[in-house]
This record gives sequence, structure tokens and C-alpha cells, in this order.
Amino acid sequence: MPVQVDIIPVGGVDAVVLEKISAALAMVFPWEMRTGKGIRLPGESYNSRRRQYNSTAILETLQALKAGMPGLILGVTDADLYVPELNFVFGEADMHAGVVVISLARLKQEFYGLSPDRGLLEERAAKEATHELGHACGLDHCGSPGCIMYFSNSIADTDRKGPGFCERCRRILGF
Ligand SMILES: [Zn+2]
Ligand SMILES: [Zn+2]
Repeated sequence: MPVQVDIIPVGGVDAVVLEKISAALAMVFPWEMRTGKGIRLPGESYNSRRRQYNSTAILETLQALKAGMPGLILGVTDADLYVPELNFVFGEADMHAGVVVISLARLKQEFYGLSPDRGLLEERAAKEATHELGHACGLDHCGSPGCIMYFSNSIADTDRKGPGFCERCRRILGF
């Protein structure tokens, strides 16, 4: 099992939000959280027609950065992410490579035409990061609506679920 998670800002991200994500993850996972040096958004991940970034292309960049290092890499970006078959994704995980990426774009109240709410953004970011890291550890989606591994189709689903794993998921993870 991983001993550390390297949190990498991709394309410039608010340092306070990164700190909050790190602190929240440290409460859930028994591993060391480290915040690494940021990288630029890979140019080839941008789709000008969709005005979004391909999350799989970002995962490939993060995987190259990981280059055999132990542990997991969590990329965090402000950019709106997609995979070709979906309108958007909150994040994506490559469980074999041990890399995940989450987007803050649709976690911000501003995205929905509402006033900014920092606390809510930080809470949602921590949830998305926990969810994707759960996938990176081999967990599938969970049918229990309060569990962090419950599938989020919309931000309302994210707000409804709790910050951590249900007992079943925790047993699979072994902590
Ligand atoms: Zn998921
Ligand atoms: Zn669960």
C-alpha cells in the first residue's frame, strides 16, 4: 500500500485550497501527504472546441512525472476536465499507474451562478480527492449513498455524501 501521496498543482491552484485538501486527506488515509512543485497544464490536453482539458492526457503527464516513485500522485487543477464520452468529469483515476487528477472548476459555487463559498469549495475538493484516491486504491463505486465512493453525477450528489469511506469500503482498503 502507498506510504505517501504527492499533491501536485496543475496549472496554478490556490495554495490554501491545496493545504485544506492535504489536511482532510491526512484524516482519512494513514499515509504522509506532501505538496509538490506545480506543473503547467499540458498543452496537448486542451480541446479548443470543448474549451476543456482531457483528464486522461493530464494523467499521462502525471504518470511520467511519477516515473517509478512509490506512493500515489494527486493532481489538482482549476481547469474544467472531460473524457470524450462525457460532458465533464470531476476527476479521473488510473489505478494501475497510481495517479489521479481532480478539477476544482465545478466545485465552485460561481460555476452555478452563485456567490463564492470557500468553505464549501474546500469540503468538496477534499471529497473529490478522497473519492479518486479510493479508485486509485482499487475501490469501485459504492451503492451506499453516504459513502465517499458513491458515484457523483452532479454537485448535489457530492454535497449529499459524507467525507469518508463506509465500513465495507474501509474493510477493502484495510484501514
Ligand atoms: Zn468515481
Ligand atoms: Zn462504500
